[in-house]
Amino acid sequence: MKAIEVRDLVKVYGRIRAVDGISFDVRPGEFFGLLGPNGAGKSTTLNILAGLTRPSSGLAKVMGYDVVSEYRISRRNLGVVPQEISTDRFLPVWRLLKTQSGFFGIEGNEDWIEEILVRLHLWEHRDKKGYELSGGMKRRLLVAKALVHKPPVVILDEPTAGVDVELRRDFWSFIHDLHREGTTILLTTHYLEEAETRCERIGILGGGRLLALESTKALLRKHTDRKVLLRFVRPLDGVPQALQGFAPRLLDDGCALGLVCHGVEDRERLWRAVMEAGLEIRDIEVVRPDLEDVFLELTRNGRSGKVGGEKPEAAGVRRERR
Ligand code: ADP
Repeated sequence: MKAIEVRDLVKVYGRIRAVDGISFDVRPGEFFGLLGPNGAGKSTTLNILAGLTRPSSGLAKVMGYDVVSEYRISRRNLGVVPQEISTDRFLPVWRLLKTQSGFFGIEGNEDWIEEILVRLHLWEHRDKKGYELSGGMKRRLLVAKALVHKPPVVILDEPTAGVDVELRRDFWSFIHDLHREGTTILLTTHYLEEAETRCERIGILGGGRLLALESTKALLRKHTDRKVLLRFVRPLDGVPQALQGFAPRLLDDGCALGLVCHGVEDRERLWRAVMEAGLEIRDIEVVRPDLEDVFLELTRNGRSGKVGGEKPEAAGVRRERR
């Protein structure tokens, strides 16, 4: 059983292939990140999963149910926390959640509604109407609304955009509780450090295609670029010829030099070049890549730079010097 299954999915808008043949699975109980720059096809994919957009071809399933031919039951298995804050202005919180339960055909849901309101720190605001809620409360209400039918799979679409630090912390602690209790989470976010620390596996979309699909650890391990910062005893007048090939950047009035090397062999070449240049080095700092580096490299290479660990057609990285 797969929590989410996407197979050869295509969505065409006129001449735009918003989603251009993507395939991935999300395992039950997994914390999965779907990342990509603007226009990559993330929202279109999420909208197809939520039954809001029809695919042009291919297949998408939630908990084994087809999002088109078995829409009602697939939607019943999915909770969507949307990007946009939109909530009824005049309906009190408690009524809104009761109505939403009714939408899913659930009667007598009071105990669960109370539990989610308490856990989301909304219980004391349960009688407030939409227009009486702060931005942070509205965001939490969207989470409550998405969970009212206890879905086994939850999609979080940019859930912390514009959210303050405290609310963000509470939000994540709640989502992690849900995950520990077995809920499958599919997250899209612009905050790459959030994805790096939370997602077990990550898919990176670019131009409607899947550029990478791997465990977060493997994605970071494979990315062998290293940023190297050399600090010198005396400032340099310019970049030595031997170091020109390593994207050099003179820093701190020539007292430091930032360099980039790709892979182990390149690192050895770099050290030889440093020796050759006869520089008196005071300090060396090597910075490991983070998800942002991996993301930028993959999405910069775009379609031609297909990468991946799990799909055979996506093997092999085409590297470009930065
Ligand atoms: P993302 O969520 O990654 O920013 P989207 O899925 O919103 O990307 O968009 C992917 C591409 O599809 C973009 O080029 C966008 O302009 C186009 N697109 C999305 N929705 C529509 C639509 N309803 N009509 C026409 N083009 C669309």
